[in-house]
Amino acid sequence: MIDFHTHAPAWNSGGWLAGAAFAAADFLAFMDGAGIEQAVVLGHDGLFDPVPSANDDLAAFVAADPGRLHGFGTVQIRRPGAADEVERMLTVLGLRGLKIHPWLQGFSAHERALDDVCDTLRRHGGILLSHDGSPPYSTPAQIAALARRHPELPVVLGHGGLHDLWREALALTAETANLHLCLCGTPPYAARRILAEAPPGKVLFGTDAGLSDRPGQDYAVARVEEIAGWGITPAQRQAMLRDNPRRLLGGADDR
Ligand SMILES: [Zn+2]
Repeated sequence: MIDFHTHAPAWNSGGWLAGAAFAAADFLAFMDGAGIEQAVVLGHDGLFDPVPSANDDLAAFVAADPGRLHGFGTVQIRRPGAADEVERMLTVLGLRGLKIHPWLQGFSAHERALDDVCDTLRRHGGILLSHDGSPPYSTPAQIAALARRHPELPVVLGHGGLHDLWREALALTAETANLHLCLCGTPPYAARRILAEAPPGKVLFGTDAGLSDRPGQDYAVARVEEIAGWGITPAQRQAMLRDNPRRLLGGADDR
């Protein structure tokens, strides 16, 4: 399976949102134990302080196994040179996408500073993943509006609307061609409805692994086990855990 939502260690920002410092080997061992072959690894420190060095640290972490770990860096979108840093992330550091967290990072997805950032991301074949489900910033509708301004850019709702906005996430994913939805922290009753009603090619899965203070990422293992209770069909499982993430991430890797 491909886990589309995990986090790098909290080297500098552990404690508040959870997370801890752990080695790449620990993370790969967790993946092996949970049956996760590949993972999208979002930053952690960069969500609180989006400086370029956070992207360097993330790149060093995923370099432990580039065939299995796909890093998504981050930038402060209002900072001069944000688009240049996106270009550096993708072309120099080998990262695969951009994670934005409008709530923690304090901006709105409607801000025009994002357009330059998204254009650069698209030009270099990157993917945009946004936190979502936390109003007033980070609602699925705001992210969908951004996706519609950049119809060639693959955009992922990182949390499927969470508890309050999953219906909105579901509706907008169905209506917006380049918008995808990651079931991650989405409650089980919502996951069941989303699986039943969303376009099958649009659904991804993520554990949010990396936010535990235990190297074994116990809650993430539980989230993998939770999938079985969603009434998922073999075809939906194949699409969500393998075909859809592979289509977005590209590559002919057989894992
Ligand atoms: Zn997360």
